[in-house]
Amino acid sequence: MGKITVRQAQDYLDALGYRLSNDGIPGPKTQAALGQFRRDHHLPDNLTEQELFLLLRQEAGKPEEKTQNPQGFWENIRYFSREEPGIACPCGRCGGFPVEPGEELMEAADGIREELGPMVPSSTVRCQAHNDELPGSVKNSRHILGKAMDFSCPKATPERIAECLERKKNEGTIRYWYAMSGGWYHFDVE
Ligand SMILES: [Zn+2]
Ligand SMILES: [Zn+2]
Repeated sequence: MGKITVRQAQDYLDALGYRLSNDGIPGPKTQAALGQFRRDHHLPDNLTEQELFLLLRQEAGKPEEKTQNPQGFWENIRYFSREEPGIACPCGRCGGFPVEPGEELMEAADGIREELGPMVPSSTVRCQAHNDELPGSVKNSRHILGKAMDFSCPKATPERIAECLERKKNEGTIRYWYAMSGGWYHFDVE
């Protein structure tokens, strides 16, 4: 659910002033504009296409919510939308939202994004079945409650990320965090 299409990416490029034809085809002009965007924003070149599209969307501004929104707080969330990649459970069996992402979780994510720059969520809501099939997951993971997010911040150093998360933990904004392998982080809220 929630993949960003080439056409949407072109719209975001267009909104940011990278002129090209919005034809839905990832041709050379689109590739060149994506490369320019990546250089302009000093992004690493090992991002997946979806990660790059997501960062592009964050820069271009959050799109209108396409589906109706069961929880009203999303309009106050600046950087994330409920339908974007990395928010719903991706298992394909549970409908994506066996539980809604919590307001406090998304507010905390917004605060982290505000400090650390572009942020890629990789896993937020999980149904119990999907959680249990992930290697190394714990049975009572807070992802099942919609109260945890895994993410990376490709432009922030590990030191800055750790400092930010530890401070937010001490402030009580988040409950717990840890670094996973590959530059990914987990945080959760009460
Ligand atoms: Zn699921
Ligand atoms: Zn996690």
